[in-house]
Amino acid sequence: MISEPSSGASAASKATHSAGDRWQAPLAGGAARGPQAAGIEQIAGRVEDGARISPAEALLLHDHADMLTLGRLADLVRRRKHPRNVVTYIVDRNVNPTNVCITDCGFCAFYRRPKHGESYVLSREEIHSKFDELAALDGRQALMQGGHHPYLKTDWWCELLTDLAARYPAINLHALSAPELDHLAKLDKRPVEHVIRDLKAAGLGSVPGAGAEILVERVRKIIAPKKTSTDRWLEVHRRVHEAGLRSSATMMFAHVETPAERIEHLERVRALQDETGGFTAFACWTMQPDGVPEQELYPAKATPGVYLRVQALSRIYLDNIENIQTSYVTQGLKMAQITLRYGCNDFGGTMMEENVVSAAGCMNLSPIEQIERQITRAGFTPLRRNSWYGIVDERYDGSRAPRNREEAATHAAAGSVA
Ligand code: SF4
Repeated sequence: MISEPSSGASAASKATHSAGDRWQAPLAGGAARGPQAAGIEQIAGRVEDGARISPAEALLLHDHADMLTLGRLADLVRRRKHPRNVVTYIVDRNVNPTNVCITDCGFCAFYRRPKHGESYVLSREEIHSKFDELAALDGRQALMQGGHHPYLKTDWWCELLTDLAARYPAINLHALSAPELDHLAKLDKRPVEHVIRDLKAAGLGSVPGAGAEILVERVRKIIAPKKTSTDRWLEVHRRVHEAGLRSSATMMFAHVETPAERIEHLERVRALQDETGGFTAFACWTMQPDGVPEQELYPAKATPGVYLRVQALSRIYLDNIENIQTSYVTQGLKMAQITLRYGCNDFGGTMMEENVVSAAGCMNLSPIEQIERQITRAGFTPLRRNSWYGIVDERYDGSRAPRNREEAATHAAAGSVA
């Protein structure tokens, strides 16, 4: 559990409430016997009937439902959307072209200020070498994110994406999170939709959901005051979807937010999905505090129980998002396997390298065979997918769409293939 910061003047003044300080996880069986039992039973009935739950109902589940009830309901919703008992994953790799950043998020151990001795910008040859390794594995996606470099503008990215799209046509360029796109728009001094248009023309295939953390301003002002605001993060994704690109949504939790703010975050994601239908997936993970600049704000990692609880709740709440991704990189393979019975239907990417949470002391990269073994042992069929959750696996005998970003733009949000 996260508790109030124990030291540090800035931490004491910044953290007015932390995620776990007023909340204790209910015991197993609490849903059946506790004072909230009738309310939980009523909500469970509504989920079983396929009804959407409200923020107040989600908070009641979050605070009072026992783990077995949450798991049962999340698994029920998962099975409705994915009746074929398939769990997908993607062969991909992370490529972080630069770690130079001027946004100074206090939870980030990855970035370096300009001119820092460990700052870097990868050469084109280094990037090609990483793509060559990915192509040799029949990889389908390069997740390209980095710091907010003060001088690398949209032109630099367009040139890079054009080159990579031409050299590696089978690899989707899943690049530039909403805060990075927002940063480019500021550097260029022009609307973000123009930046997105140019990047799409250069080969951008889809947009990662990073940088959401918790979409509540009180929280963002504490953990990342210079970063893209809640409204702007949502606006950039709206523009991405309007441009005919798909993106994912994320949540990094268990730091200074309250349970109600976790629900507020989920509500904002669900509302935008109602509007655009452009999110392919949702992934959440807990804050990884080791070695981050403002470590005094984050004295302890969240327990696995908190992670599992929120993971299950996200599946129940986000009834309009088809795919819920587990986070084996932060939680480990065993916990990721358990989440497959708590609403997750996707194992994420094979990554090949990870430089962001590993900078915060978290490193659980796993080869393809290990991922497949965990999925199989949990009772599911592992299949490879592309960035848009179309199946790219010769073992699959069903529909494979969408195959590319153009098909994904018109693919019905409810058209799950697995
Ligand atoms: S999280 Fe992103 S924006 Fe924030 S400091 Fe790290 S690299 Fe920069």
